[in-house]
Amino acid sequence: MGELKNDIQFLPGVGPRRAALLKRELGINTLDDLIHFYPFRYIDRSTIVPIASVSPDVAYVQIKARVVSRNLINIKHLSVMVEDGSGSMEIVFFKGVKWTWDKLEPGREFIFFGKPQLFNGRINIVHPEIDAPQDSPSSRGVLTGVYPSTEKLKSGGITGKVMCKLQSAALALCLNEVQENLPEKIRRMHGLCPLNYAIKNVHFPDDMKALELATRRLKFDELFFLQLSLLKQRYIRSRAENGIPMPHVGTPFHACYNSLPYSLTGAQQRVIKEIRSDLAGGSQMNRLLQGDVGSGKTMVAVLSCLIAVGNGYQACIMAPTEVLARQHFANISKYLAPTGVRCALLTGSTTRKERKPLLEGLADGTLNIVVGTHALIEDPVRYKALGLAVIDEQHRFGVGQRAALWSKGAEGMPPHILVMTATPIPRTLAMTLYGDLDVSVIDEMPPGRKKVQTMLIGQNRLPAMYRFMREQIALGRQAFVVYPMIFINEKMEDISNVEQGYEEILKAFPLEEGYKVAIVHGQQSNEDKSFNMKAFAEGRANILVSTTVIEVGVDVPNASVMVIRSAQRFGLSQLHQLRGRVGRGAEKSYCILVKDPKTGADALQRLQLMCSTDDGFEIAEQDMKMRGPGDLEGTQQSGLPVSLNIASLARDGLLLEEARHCAQGVLDDDPSLQNPENAPLVHELRKDKYDIKDYSNIS
Ligand code: ADP
Ligand code: MG
Repeated sequence: MGELKNDIQFLPGVGPRRAALLKRELGINTLDDLIHFYPFRYIDRSTIVPIASVSPDVAYVQIKARVVSRNLINIKHLSVMVEDGSGSMEIVFFKGVKWTWDKLEPGREFIFFGKPQLFNGRINIVHPEIDAPQDSPSSRGVLTGVYPSTEKLKSGGITGKVMCKLQSAALALCLNEVQENLPEKIRRMHGLCPLNYAIKNVHFPDDMKALELATRRLKFDELFFLQLSLLKQRYIRSRAENGIPMPHVGTPFHACYNSLPYSLTGAQQRVIKEIRSDLAGGSQMNRLLQGDVGSGKTMVAVLSCLIAVGNGYQACIMAPTEVLARQHFANISKYLAPTGVRCALLTGSTTRKERKPLLEGLADGTLNIVVGTHALIEDPVRYKALGLAVIDEQHRFGVGQRAALWSKGAEGMPPHILVMTATPIPRTLAMTLYGDLDVSVIDEMPPGRKKVQTMLIGQNRLPAMYRFMREQIALGRQAFVVYPMIFINEKMEDISNVEQGYEEILKAFPLEEGYKVAIVHGQQSNEDKSFNMKAFAEGRANILVSTTVIEVGVDVPNASVMVIRSAQRFGLSQLHQLRGRVGRGAEKSYCILVKDPKTGADALQRLQLMCSTDDGFEIAEQDMKMRGPGDLEGTQQSGLPVSLNIASLARDGLLLEEARHCAQGVLDDDPSLQNPENAPLVHELRKDKYDIKDYSNIS
C-alpha cells in the first residue's frame, strides 16, 4: 500500500540517475505522476510486413526477419543484413554498436520496428527497436503507446520502449490503489468507464474500443475538474457581499442615453442590462465583454461608467496605449457633453502642470471619470471613491497591474471590473480562461456597417493595386499599408522592413504628384508616432505605412483600403483585427492581402479563409483549430490556468461543454459539496493543481 506516493527512483528500472532525469524533463516525481503521463499516440504493432512490401513512405514498419550477416564498418557504424523469405534489408546502427553486435547473432530471428528510409536507392532502417519474437509488444496487446520524449531522455536511456516497461511495472505495483474520483451517478450519466480501467487502457489498450473509453474518461476528468474548480470559485465570489452597491441607474445615464444620435443595437441593450444587474447585485462584478471590432463596446463602457457616477462613485477607463487613450477620451467626451459629468485624460505624457489639478479632482471626487493608460493605477493616483474600472483590450494588462487596480477601490472594496476585448475568443477557450468570469457578448453590428471586401494577391499584381489605391485616394479616401514585424535573433527588426516599404510607397505615390505618406512603427519616439498618427487621422496624409502598432482600436472612418504586406506572416485573428480598421465609415472598403512568393499551403489556407468570412468568432475557432490554443493571439500572456494533459480545447469542445454542464449541475444541487456522494470530488479538488490563484480575481 501507499505505492502511489512513492518516489519514482524506487521503481525497478529507474534508480537515482534516471529519476533525476524524469523529474527534470517531465516533472515526474512519484508513481502517481508516472501513471498520469500518457502516450500522445499509438502504433499498431499487430501487423508484420514482409520485407518485399516495405515502403519508405510509412512512418513505421515492423518486420520479422533472420540475421544473415554483421558488418562492422567502423567503430561507430554497424551494418546488419536481415531477410525474411520475401526479401532482404539492411539495418544500421551508429550507437550501441558493441551491444547490438553481440545481440544480433547470425541465424537468430527478431522483430524489428522502426522508420524505413530510402538510402542510395535501397530501403533500410536505422536504429530499430529489437525484440525477440516471444516478447515483442504485439504479444502484449495490439496498440503500443508512444510517449512524449526529449533528446535528454533518450540519451539518458529512457527510450520509448523503456518508458513502456516503466509504466508496466508501475501499474503492476499501484493500479489497485487508484481511487475512483467521480461519483457513480456521474459516471453512469455520462457513460464513463472506471478510473483504474481508464488508466490501465490508456497505457496498454486491450483494443481500439477500450482505448476510446479510456481517453474519453480521462479527458472528461481533466475538463470536468477544471470547470468544477472554476465554477466553484465563481460561486463563492457571487455569494460574497463585497460589491460596491449601485442600486440606481441615475440621471447621468438617462441624460446620455436620451441624447444618443442612434439607438442601441439589441446586443448593446442586452449587455447593458446584464451590467446593470451586476452592479446592483451586491457582489463585485467581474465581467468580460467580447465584441468584434466596431460592434460598439465604447458606448457600453460609457453607460456603465455613468451608472457608477449616478450612484456617487468614480469610474476609470484604461486603454493599452496612449493613442488609444486619447481617442477614447475624444469619443467619450462627446457622449458625456449632455450629462454634465466631468472627465479627464491621464497618460504618461500628461504634464506636471495638468496633472496636479487632475489628481486633486480624483482625490476629492470632483472628477467623475478618468480615461488613460496604466498611469491611472500608478502610485500617486488616489481616488475618492472608485467604483468601476473598465479595461480595454485586457490582454495587454499584466497580473500586477490588475492587483494595483484592485487596491484602488472605494471603502476598501474592489471596484467592479469590466474587461473589454475585441479578440474573439472561441467559446471553449473562454470557458477555460475565463471560467470564473461572467461573459457578455455583443454579437450584432451597428446598422450600416459595410462588409469589407477582402482579396488575396501575389506581388505580380502590385502595380494594379497601386492603381486602385490612386483611384480611391482620388475619391478622397485614405489607405493603410501594414508590414509585419520581423524578428531576427529574437530582436525586433521591423524597421528595415517597414522602411523599405515606405520607400517603395513614396516611389509609387510621389510628393510631386500631391501624395502625402505617413509612417508609424515601434522604434519611433512617442512624439513621432503621435505626429504621424495624427496626420493620418486628421486626413492630412493619404497613406499610413506602419507595422502592427495600429492593430488595436484606432478609428479613421475615412480610410477605405487596408493593404497587408507579407500577409502570410500574420495570424488569422491579427488579420481580422487589422481588417477591422477599415469599413468604419460610409464608403465601401477593401482589404488587400499581399502574399510573398514562398507562401506555404497552411498559410494560404488561412488567407483564403480571411477572404471567405468576416465573422470574428468563426475566424477565431479556425485559428485555434489550425494552430492550437496555446498560440492563439491575445492569450499567450494569460496562458491556461492549468495545463491540459490529454484533452484539447481545439478538438474536445463538445466534451468540454458536457463536462461544464455536469459541473454546473453538481454545484446547483450541492453548492458547498457537502453531500457524502460528492466526497471523491472534494478529495480531488484538494490537489495542488486546482489551486488557481490569478484567475479568481483576474482584475
Ligand atoms: P468597438 O470599440 O467595439 O470596436 P466602437 O465603440 O468604437 O466599437 O464603435 C464603432 C463605431 O460604431 C463608432 O463610430 C460608434 O459611434 C458607432 N456605434 C456604436 N453603437 C452604435 C449603434 N448602436 N448604432 C450606430 N452606430 C453605433
Ligand atoms: Mg474600441
